Amino acid sequence: MKETGTISIQSENIFPIIKKFLYSDHEIFLRELVSNAVDATQKLKRLAALGEVPGDVDVDKLRVEVEFNKKKKTITVRDQGIGMTAEEVKKYINQVAFSGATDFLEKYKDKGEENQIIGFFGLGFYSAFMVADKVEIETKSYQEDAPAVHWECDGSTDFIIKPSKKKERGTEVILHIAKDSEEFLDEFRLKEILNKYCKFLPVEIKFGTREEYVPDGEDKDGKPKTKKVVVDNIINNTQPLWVKPPSELKDEDYLAFYKELYPFSEDPLFWIHLNVDYPFNLTGVLYFPKIKQEIDLQRNKIQLYSRQVFITDDVKDIVPEFLQLLHGVIDSPDIPLNVSRSYLQSDSNVKKINNYITKKVADKLATLFKNDRKAFEQKWDDIGLFVKYGMISEDKFYDKAKDFALLKNLDGEYYTIEEYNKKVKATQTDKDKNIVWLYATEPAKQDTYIKSAKNKGYDILLFDTLIDSHFINHLEQKLDKVQIKRIDADTPDKLINKDEKLESVLSEEDQQVIKELFEKAIDNPNMTVSVESMSPDEMPVVITMSEFMRRMKDMAATGGGSFGMMGAMPDQYNVAVNANHEVIGKILAAKTEKKRLTLARQAFDLALLSQNMLEGNKLSEFIERSLKILAK
Ligand code: ADP
Repeated sequence: MKETGTISIQSENIFPIIKKFLYSDHEIFLRELVSNAVDATQKLKRLAALGEVPGDVDVDKLRVEVEFNKKKKTITVRDQGIGMTAEEVKKYINQVAFSGATDFLEKYKDKGEENQIIGFFGLGFYSAFMVADKVEIETKSYQEDAPAVHWECDGSTDFIIKPSKKKERGTEVILHIAKDSEEFLDEFRLKEILNKYCKFLPVEIKFGTREEYVPDGEDKDGKPKTKKVVVDNIINNTQPLWVKPPSELKDEDYLAFYKELYPFSEDPLFWIHLNVDYPFNLTGVLYFPKIKQEIDLQRNKIQLYSRQVFITDDVKDIVPEFLQLLHGVIDSPDIPLNVSRSYLQSDSNVKKINNYITKKVADKLATLFKNDRKAFEQKWDDIGLFVKYGMISEDKFYDKAKDFALLKNLDGEYYTIEEYNKKVKATQTDKDKNIVWLYATEPAKQDTYIKSAKNKGYDILLFDTLIDSHFINHLEQKLDKVQIKRIDADTPDKLINKDEKLESVLSEEDQQVIKELFEKAIDNPNMTVSVESMSPDEMPVVITMSEFMRRMKDMAATGGGSFGMMGAMPDQYNVAVNANHEVIGKILAAKTEKKRLTLARQAFDLALLSQNMLEGNKLSEFIERSLKILAK
C-alpha cells in the first residue's frame, strides 16, 4: 500500500531557492495554507448546497483551525473541507502544487528581478517548505468511503504516500518547523500573522481559546452574576463590510468598519463603496481621511485583498498615486499578484481598475458638490489637498475636478474656477486681456501688500498649503488667459498692468541720484533697485520678488526634481523706490551724503520690516536709527 516516488521537476534544489528568494516574506506560508483550507471549506459548502455531500453537514459550523506545539515543533492547519483522495493528492500536491513552485522559478529566471519576487503570491502549498523541513498531510475526501491518505515529504523531491487513520472528512497539514524558523512557534507571532493576512477570511479561523465572562443568573441580593468560560478564539470577521450590499449598510456601519481597520484614527469625511463585476471584478470601500497638513499624509493605508485574503498594503501600481492618500480596502481576484511590477503596470485589468477608481472618486466628489455645496465647502480644507494633487497628476481627474475644485479668498468665500473668473474679470484684467488672480500665502506677514491690493479693489486668494505652488503652476498651464501672482510679486500698480502710467514728480536726474543712493545704502547684489512712480499712498520703498522666481524656489523647496538648482540660488529681490512718496523728496533734500544714506537705509529697512524680513542685528540697527531720527 505504501508508495514512494519522485516529484518530477528539473531542479533538485528547488527548496533552497524558494527559501532564499522569499526570505523576507516567510510568514506568508501561513496565509497560503489557511487560504487553501478556506478554499476546501468553501468548496464543501457549495457541494453540500447541491446535496452532493453524504451525511449531515452543518455548514455553519465548518471552520479552520490553526495550532502549534512548541515541544514537537509543529504547526498544524486543519479543515473540514472537501479533503483529497489518494489520486487527488498525487495530482494536486505532487504535480499541480509543484508546477506552481516550478512556475515561480521559471518567472524568477526570466525576469531576474529578485526583489520583485518578494511578495509573490500563489506559491501555494509549497511555501510550507520555507519554514518546515518536513511536511505531512492527513486527508480524507468527502466522497463516500474514500480511504484517508497520509503524505509526507522532507523537502527533497522524494515523497511517501500511504493510508492514514484519519476518521473525519477534511485535511490536516502538519509542518515540522525547521531550526531557522522556530520564531514561528510562538503564540504572538502566529497571532500577528493571522491578524495581518486572515482577518477577513470568509470561514471562521480558530486559533486557541480565550476566556470570556458570561451572565450567570443572579446572586442572593438579586445582582446579576457572571462566570468565566473558555471559548474558541476566532480571529476573523467572516463578513467584512465590503462584501455586503451597499443598500444594507448605514453610515454607522461604515464608521465602525473604519475603526476596525484603523483603531486610532479620527472619523473619515466620507467614503465610496466600490462594486463592479464587469469587465473586472472589484469590491471595496475607500475612505477620505481628514488631511489638514502635508505632514499627515500617509500612504500604505489602502489594503489590497484577493477574495478576502490580505495581499499587501502597497497598492502603488493598482491605485493612482493621488488616490493612495485615501484609506480603505480593495478586493479583486482580477489583479495579477504573482507577477513582477513591470508586468503589472502594463496589465490591462490594472489600467482599467485604475481608471475606474479615479472616475468613481471624481463622481463622488461631483455629487457631494452638487447636492450640498455648503457641506462641500466646509470639507474643502480637508479634501482640497487631495483634489489639487489629483488635478496635477491625472488629466482625466482634472477634467472632472475643474468644475468642483474651490478657490478660497481672504474673506473666507469659496468660488469655483469659473465663478472666480467672473467675479474678478472686471477689476483684474490687464492690458493684454489676461485675468490676473492675486494670492497671499501668509496673510499676517503680507499685510502691507494686501492692504495696497485691496485699496485698488482687488480680490485676494489664499494659497497657503505646500502643494499650492505646484497647483497654481498647473492651473496657469491649463487655463487660457489666466495669470496667477502673489501679491508681493510686483509693486501694487504693476501687479495687474493696465497701462495706466502715473507721472513722476522727480526729474530724470533726481531719479538717477535716488537709485544710486539706495544701491549704496542697501549694498546687496541680490537686491535690484529701481525708481518707480507709484501712488503717493504706497510705501516709500516696496520689496518684491517676481512670481516666476518665487514659484521656482517654492517648487524646489517641495521637491520638484528639475528645480533643484533654483533651491541653491540666493533669493533675488526687486527694490522699488516710490518716486512720488514725500519721504523720498525729503531724503533727496537732506543736506549731507551721510544723512541721505542714513535716511535711505531707514526707508529700506522699513520696507523689510513690513515684509517680516528685518532680522538679527539689522533690526537693532533699525531701532537705534529710529531713535536718533525721532530725537531730532
Ligand atoms: P493553489 O491553491 O494555488 O491551487 P496550492 O499549491 O496551494 O495551489 O494547492 C494545490 C492544490 O492542492 C489545490 O488547488 C487543491 O486542489 C489542493 N489542496 C491544497 N490544500 C488543500 C486542502 N487543505 N484541502 C483540499 N485540497 C487542497
